[in-house]
Amino acid sequence: MVKIFQFLIDFICPPICPVCDRSVDVHGNLCSACWTRFNWISNPKCYKCGYPFPADLDLGLKPLCPHCAAGECGLDFIRSACVYDDMSKSIMLPFKHVSQLKYQTLMSTAMINCLRDLDLDVDVVLPVPLAYKRLFKRGYNQAALLARPIAKYFNAEMDVDSLSRKYKQDMGHKSAKQRRENVRGVFTVKNTDNIRDKKILIVDDVMTSGATFYELNRVLRKAGASAVYAVSFCRVVHAI
Ligand SMILES: [Zn+2]
Ligand SMILES: [Zn+2]
Repeated sequence: MVKIFQFLIDFICPPICPVCDRSVDVHGNLCSACWTRFNWISNPKCYKCGYPFPADLDLGLKPLCPHCAAGECGLDFIRSACVYDDMSKSIMLPFKHVSQLKYQTLMSTAMINCLRDLDLDVDVVLPVPLAYKRLFKRGYNQAALLARPIAKYFNAEMDVDSLSRKYKQDMGHKSAKQRRENVRGVFTVKNTDNIRDKKILIVDDVMTSGATFYELNRVLRKAGASAVYAVSFCRVVHAI
């Protein structure tokens, strides 16, 4: 029955690559040509924060970047599917500003794939909240759109109510230190019961300096979270 239904959907609306509109086998999948244009993050990478290392670097099974080796990360794990570059930007920006839902499956599937080998146990999935003023203007939170299929994959609770965010001016092109200061104190845990003793996975579309994840980690640990993980579709990779 499901097969017949899928056949009808494919017949009426054949699956196409969301980037270039070429036909593909499954709805939401990229065609092979577009797939190779993304800079997917694979090994070797920092075992803790997912920072990608040059391909020829052999640092063992669970290598750490200098930042994590110094114990500065705080989160249990951070992963991102790909590097923020012209290709990922070309689907990120429309996804952020207009309702470009055609990219949702591609992005959330890539995020699930980059978490698979960690075999995480997740209780609650928390999309990074938007300040109410921004949410009202945009009409939707892109992180929540990505988080829903991820919560389903982990069989975890999707929580859009336990956190709130104060409105602050856009950070623009500030330094990592300025971003960290700018985001400090903007998140409030409204419902501690849903955080205490829970393993939390934070979801965002892009990781820039990590300031948002670090601040959320601080706030969630304070509220009693037993583990904090974070995943983004892409991340800005600075030289370290
Ligand atoms: Zn394509
Ligand atoms: Zn690291």
